[in-house]
This record gives sequence, structure tokens and C-alpha cells, in this order.
Amino acid sequence: MHTSYQPFVDGEPVTATGGTFVTRNPADGEVLAEVGRGLAADVDAAVRAAERALPAWSRPKPAERGRILLRLAAVLREHADELARLETLDNGQALVQSHGDVETAARYFEFYGGAADKLHGETIPLGADYLSYTVNEPFGVVGFVLPWNAPLNQAARGLGPALATGNVAVVKPAEDTPLTSLELARLALEAGVPPGVLNVVPGYGHEAGAALVEHPGVRKIAFTGSVDTGALIARTAADRLVPVTLELGGKSPNIVFPDADLDAVARSSWIGFTFKSGQVCSAGTRLLVHADVYDDVVERLVTRAAGATLAPGLENPDLGPLATAAQFEKVTGYLELGVEEGAKVAVGGGVPDDPALRAGHFVQPTIFTEVENSMRIAQEEIFGPVLCAIRFTSDEEAVRIANDTRYGLAAGVWTTDLSRAHRVSAQLQSGQVFVNEYFAGGVETPFGGFKSSGYGREKGFEALKHYTQTKTVTLRV
Ligand code: NAD
Repeated sequence: MHTSYQPFVDGEPVTATGGTFVTRNPADGEVLAEVGRGLAADVDAAVRAAERALPAWSRPKPAERGRILLRLAAVLREHADELARLETLDNGQALVQSHGDVETAARYFEFYGGAADKLHGETIPLGADYLSYTVNEPFGVVGFVLPWNAPLNQAARGLGPALATGNVAVVKPAEDTPLTSLELARLALEAGVPPGVLNVVPGYGHEAGAALVEHPGVRKIAFTGSVDTGALIARTAADRLVPVTLELGGKSPNIVFPDADLDAVARSSWIGFTFKSGQVCSAGTRLLVHADVYDDVVERLVTRAAGATLAPGLENPDLGPLATAAQFEKVTGYLELGVEEGAKVAVGGGVPDDPALRAGHFVQPTIFTEVENSMRIAQEEIFGPVLCAIRFTSDEEAVRIANDTRYGLAAGVWTTDLSRAHRVSAQLQSGQVFVNEYFAGGVETPFGGFKSSGYGREKGFEALKHYTQTKTVTLRV
């Protein structure tokens, strides 16, 4: 494994102008790698390289680009073991989850590689004297600013549709987890992506990140991260009149009706709030349970949580450490706040006793009961393995509580009554609804937020539209 990384620009590593910073292993706090600290000059070099690469990438037949992306999918799978290990060392998650992220990344390039030659324009009937048609053209340089919770997965999620439609890219990964994005750029070159098409500039948000969104050569921005940073980036983009996709946070309800299969509820809802130690934007962190089955459901989840394993991600525990020291402080702060607000800790509530885990950012899976939806722990995104269990007594009340946050990213619905499933899904203010399986869906299903969870869509065929602009050509014949 490399211990030193530099920005990847124009097909090769280049020394960053800002010196270096370090990325640490969140399981023990040890330095994992030194990384070149990109500044505005490095971002500028990357954008210029991307601009130079644009014609050769956007002009050939889309099927040729598609073939290269399919090769990239294969190359990622060939390197799955090393990529998964690197991801786990950098962001802490269980190795099996990193393997899942590598496979998902491969699936993105496979899906969009296959879609590259299938995004047709339209002909528009204007009568015999005119010919009118639309063409989906790339924007040019797309700037990606990414978070630390699923680095490779999220890089591929945006790059798949962007590259398939003929755009070129500059990626600014999170400062805490830059390594797999840098490996991705190297492997893309190996797969046949020409130099300059995919550039990665690691660095801090206020330096490399800000320089990227402000760069006049960047014609489209795709941001995944917190609401506050998303709003800041949207303001910058508004000044430049550049389109933005914003994939932001969530506080997603997971609604259990009394007729649900409670074994499935317990299995899936556990994953819903503990996957990646709860650091998932669409995590189901507000468990709304009908009063008739509330105690039963809570007891099943408490039993599961009490038996959960916590360990460094390489040991494949149920929960690895949180990805960063700042996130550890934030989550443990919310654990204290919940108690102050009057919620009851049914399980967890702190850090594990095991002295071997003290140096890492480990937090126990925690379930709060007696939660009012107005409490801050129920309204604010904690981004850790923390579940707020809330009781309801009617379908109307469940929908009202579910919609009563600023967010609208995802929602779970558990019922064996098909009419209720559709009726409730229609009333939820949420970009995706999972019925009878939390996180149901895949790279094929469009993903994005309602309300403060963002706008634009990633994933699925829908994402292709967000990485292209429509040109209408009309001729008098
Ligand atoms: P963050 O907003 O702090 O950082 C995200 C990225 O923005 C990082 O690369 C950071 O360096 C960069 N950044 C920070 N300040 C910047 C600035 N002024 N200009 C340009 N870039 C800047 O978010 P985070 O804490 O890394 O990630 C967690 C958040 O991401 C959570 O809210 C989570 O819900 C959200 N998220 C959303 C999705 C989704 O698809 N909707 C997926 C994963 C995470």
C-alpha cells in the first residue's frame, strides 16, 4: 500500500502546491497516509487538463466511452480486495461494507457504460416546413465535492453518468478519506480513460473545495455533504449561474404499522440505522412504531444492539468506528443531549468499555425511547448509530410525524396492506420510499432529496439528464 499520495492530474500524480496533510485510521488514530494538499493552483491545473481532454472524450461515439467505462468496472472488481481494505482503513467501516461499496462503484460504471449510447434526443413535430430535434450535450468540466462516508461509492455514483455523457471531471474528495478516489483515477487510466478526463485534487473544503466551485472553467457542480456547505456552494454557483446537484442530509422516518412482519422489521431496521455505523444520509433514524407493536419492536432492536460487535473494520464487526474525530465528538454530544432532553436510553448511550477500542472513534449503537419528534435528537441529523423510537396511533399521525422535519431524503414503510403502502408512500415528503425493506433499490433507482435534503437526482437513468444540457435545433426546410 502507498503511504504517500498526491493529486492526480492529467493522467499522473503531481506534487501539490500546499504541502501535505495526513489522513488517519479512525480505528486507532494512527496516521495512514500523507496526502498532497491541493490549493487553487492545483485545482486550476486540473480544470485546465480537463478542458484539454474534453474534445477527445466528448466527440467519439458514445458506445466507445461506454466500452471504456465497462472496462473500468472490470478493473475495479479485479482490484476489489485492495480497494476495500484501503477504504476500511481510511473511513473505518466494516470490510464487508467496503467490498459492497467497491461492487456498487463497479455497478455504477457498468450501468452508465451500458447507458452511454442510449440517451436519445427527440424530434419535435412542427409541420412539413420544419425539422426540429433535441441533442443532449455534456456541460464540459464537472466539479465534484464529496463527503467521507462512502468515498469510492459516491465518486462513482456521480462520475458514472457524468463521464458516460461526455463530460470531464475534477473531484475534490473529503479531506478525511481521499485515498480511494485517488486510486480510482489511477485505475481509470489503466482501464483506458484518457489522461485529463478524470482528475482528483485532495485538500480542504475551504481551499481546494472552494477553489473548485469558484473556478470559471467548471460548468456544473455536484455536491454531496452537509446542508450548510451545500447552501454555501449553491450561493457560489448562483453567482456564476452554474447548475448544481445537491445531495444533502436526512433524518429519515421508518414507519412500522401493526400489520407488518416484525421479524423483517427488526432485521432490516437494525441495518437501517447501523450500516456504516449510522453514517448514511438515508439512514432510517426515526423509528415510528404503532403503539400496538411499539414495545415488541423496540425490544427486538434492543436485543440486537446489546449483542452487537464493535471492532476495527478489518475484523468485520457489526459496527466499525466513526470515520472522523469530529464526527465522534458530534455523535457523543447528541447522546448527552438526548438524555438532557428527557429521552430514555434503552440501550447503548456511550462509548464501549473495551480498552482496546479507546484510541478509536467507537460509539455504542444507541436506541432512545420516549422521544418527542420536536426534540433536537429527532430533528437534527446525528450521522451515527443512534435511533429515536417514536410512538403513533393512526396512519394520519404517522404521516404527520414522518413529514415533520426539514429533511426529505428517504422513508421506510412496513405493512402487509398494499393499499396502505401506496396511500402512505404518496403522502410522504421524501425522495425515496422503501416498502418492506429498508434501503431497497440499487444503482438503477433515482436518488435525491425533497425539502432541505437537496435537489437534482443521482442514480438511475434519471441522473443522465442532470449531467447533460438539451440543445434544440430547428430548421426551416
Ligand atoms: P461537509 O459538508 O462538511 O463536507 C463535504 C465536502 O465539502 C468535503 O469534501 C469538504 O471538504 C467540502 N467542503 C467543506 N467546506 C467547503 C467549502 N466552503 N467549499 C467547498 N467545499 C467545501 O459534509 P461531511 O460532514 O463530509 O458529510 C456528511 C454529510 O453528507 C451529512 O450531512 C450527510 O447526510 C451528507 N451525505 C449526503 C449524501 C446524499 O447522497 N444525499 C450521501 C452521503 C452523505
